[in-house]
Amino acid sequence: MRIPFLRPSPPPLSQLTAELEAIEASGIFTNYGPVNTQLEEAFISRIFGDRGACMTVCNATIGLMLAIRQALPENLGERRFALMPSFTFAATAQAAMWCGLTPLFCDIDEKTWMLSHGHVCDLIQTHRHKIAVIIPYATFGNCLNLDFYNELSAQEGIPVVIDAAASLGSLNSLGTGFGAGSAAPVIFSMHATKTFAVAEAGLVYSANPDLIRQLRAMSNFGFGTPHISTMPGLNGKLPEVLALMALKKLDELEALIEHREFLANRYRKMLPDFQSQHMTGNRTTNQFTSLLLPETLVEKRAQFLALLAKKGIGSATYFSPHLIEQPYFKKRCSASPLDNTDKVSRGIVSLPMSDKMTLAELSQTCECVRSSLVEALDTH
Ligand SMILES: *Cc1c(COP(=O)(O)O)cnc(C)c1O
Repeated sequence: MRIPFLRPSPPPLSQLTAELEAIEASGIFTNYGPVNTQLEEAFISRIFGDRGACMTVCNATIGLMLAIRQALPENLGERRFALMPSFTFAATAQAAMWCGLTPLFCDIDEKTWMLSHGHVCDLIQTHRHKIAVIIPYATFGNCLNLDFYNELSAQEGIPVVIDAAASLGSLNSLGTGFGAGSAAPVIFSMHATKTFAVAEAGLVYSANPDLIRQLRAMSNFGFGTPHISTMPGLNGKLPEVLALMALKKLDELEALIEHREFLANRYRKMLPDFQSQHMTGNRTTNQFTSLLLPETLVEKRAQFLALLAKKGIGSATYFSPHLIEQPYFKKRCSASPLDNTDKVSRGIVSLPMSDKMTLAELSQTCECVRSSLVEALDTH
């Protein structure tokens, strides 16, 4: 039996003919139509505890670009750096670079795999007047400490934009959706491969409704008044059909996250030799399963993954190579020492997870992982 790394399962459009007919009858296909409004209201009430405001975007990368651009002053002066982890997806750095910034990579904490607070403070000490924005990443749906960043932002006068691409459905320690109450904008993805799987879609949340109003205008060509550009803009709007899919996904969310949590716990029990990420908050989304190879096997990762593939088990290595190791970023970005990033990145393996994965498939995966580890140790 082959077990793919991911099996995206967006809500099946083929079963939504009545809803699609209603969209056609309305004659409204995009531009923040009624389905989109219903979706945004559902997010606020069902995920964010009735606090703050949100707006959809066509994908999270565009959401990051909008939020970063909004945070910048008219004249950047010497503020050119976007402080962010190197242990993240390319989109974080690309979005900052589209805004004319240079990523300044900061090391992560070796347990939570999120930005190390100590290193963030060190970099601010060294580059205080050159940092335009701080972009922490809520790694793999982990709940980063929003209070720390909101306080830091107020104290240093440096804006913060949160990349929470994988966190839609994660719960903080109060049991509310991650991000709730954050004045700094929080950006989520609903890409088909994320746990909140739609196709291409994203969400920007903030406790500050004025900020969301401005971002919405920026996402609609910078139209501050109808058809008149009064600020920087682009087209980041989400079509009604995709808003419909997201609404349906929201209905499934509780059950599928519970299933994924159950599988993730089983993985940890069945593979006790692997170190896993230290999670904060009440619940995470488990887009896939991230584990660190035992130290003795790190050098054998390529052989190990090849052996797994031969047995029909899909896998990946998020995020290895990490950003500063990738050619486009290596040439153009700055980095401080990244010891923890290097260590986690070198040992990381990403294992299969999906809404439909069964316990039998998980057991088979773990069997193959164990036998491949033994075989990898024998290779040269
Ligand atoms: C998936 C992801 C993104 C991009 O999301 P899209 O909706 O595909 O644009 C950005 N940052 C991180 C960390 C991601 O994992």
